[in-house]
Amino acid sequence: MKILLSERLNKLPPYLFAQIDKAKREERAKGADLVDLGIGDPDQPTPKHIIEKLYTAARDPENHHYALDQGMDILREAIKKWYKRRFKVSLSHDKEILPLIGSKEGISHIPLAFINKGDYSLVPDPCYPPYKGGTILAGGIPYILPLKEENEFLPDFSHIPKKVLTKAKFLFLNYPNNPTSAVATISFYKDVVRFAKKHNIIVLHDTAYSEINFDGYKPPSFLEVAGAKDVGVEFHSLSKTYNMTGWRIGWVCGNQKIVAGLAKVKANMDSGIFSAIQIAAVEALSGPQEYVDAMCRLYSQRRDLLIDGLNDLGWQVDKPKATFYVWARLPKKHKSSIKFAKMLLTRAHIVVTPGCGFGDSGEGYVRMALTANEDRIKEAIVRFKKVI
Ligand SMILES: *Cc1c(COP(=O)(O)O)cnc(C)c1O
Repeated sequence: MKILLSERLNKLPPYLFAQIDKAKREERAKGADLVDLGIGDPDQPTPKHIIEKLYTAARDPENHHYALDQGMDILREAIKKWYKRRFKVSLSHDKEILPLIGSKEGISHIPLAFINKGDYSLVPDPCYPPYKGGTILAGGIPYILPLKEENEFLPDFSHIPKKVLTKAKFLFLNYPNNPTSAVATISFYKDVVRFAKKHNIIVLHDTAYSEINFDGYKPPSFLEVAGAKDVGVEFHSLSKTYNMTGWRIGWVCGNQKIVAGLAKVKANMDSGIFSAIQIAAVEALSGPQEYVDAMCRLYSQRRDLLIDGLNDLGWQVDKPKATFYVWARLPKKHKSSIKFAKMLLTRAHIVVTPGCGFGDSGEGYVRMALTANEDRIKEAIVRFKKVI
């Protein structure tokens, strides 16, 4: 029997990290002691009080049933309060907030609610892969908006052809940004609202890193801008803020109709989030927040150590205000980010992520994650010195 993949699966972009993953496995098999700066997943555990809440909630038989599709009331209430406290934005807990099985789940499913065959999603590049993947799986076409260093990694809307604009359903945005660690201002978000209204485009803002911030800087929410709720939604995640990547919980909030569209897709695909995890998420959002501050201090110390070290070696890297990534232009004599990453891996046993894996506009850069401890970062600097 012939087993053929669907056209939509065949249309997905190639997984460029596969080469690096393979080379990494080979080095490990040879016994190499790798300094891994490739991992976009916090190295620290989930705070204890959140885990304790999961224990008790998991023991309660009440929580062993199918959960409600729209999420528990107490969770939507906790999200609403958190939002108000953090951004001074008011949300309706039953119309404008929808818990998700991790924000990736919502981001990759939302195109099914709004994209018709041949519609465009405006997608920044480099970017988190599900913006393109989700669009393609729904029959849409990603239209690339290059993020350039000279524009502070913000997209330029002025060069999009008219025929794309008329068939564009979505604009994906992500600030603080993975992989570039760029941040956006309220004034940029005002431009976005104007652009979206003019062309009738839904704005999907991925805000997974809003709480990983440094030096007193607090990233704004897109929804703080007047009119934002008319045009868009914001995706949030507990993954990075509370070191909960494996738990799978996040949410989308904002425009009621957009939220309802995604809810309808989800009602046909999943049956809610394990209630014990939702109860633990309430604890995360409503309980003590000093753990988040402590995490940010830890990342900022690592950031300073890594960037000061790189700059001493002649790199030119600015310190990011948010995210746990360092986005570094390749040193002068290097051109290909894949070749450079492979060289670092085989000659220095350092893992970095080649920028081209996030899209063509990421070429010429590598991403280093601050998810390794200070000793490992010091070791990385010693090793960089030998090969750069
Ligand atoms: C980590 C990350 C997420 C979070 O995904 P979850 O599914 O909530 O774990 C979302 N967007 C970006 C850009 C990320 O890097």
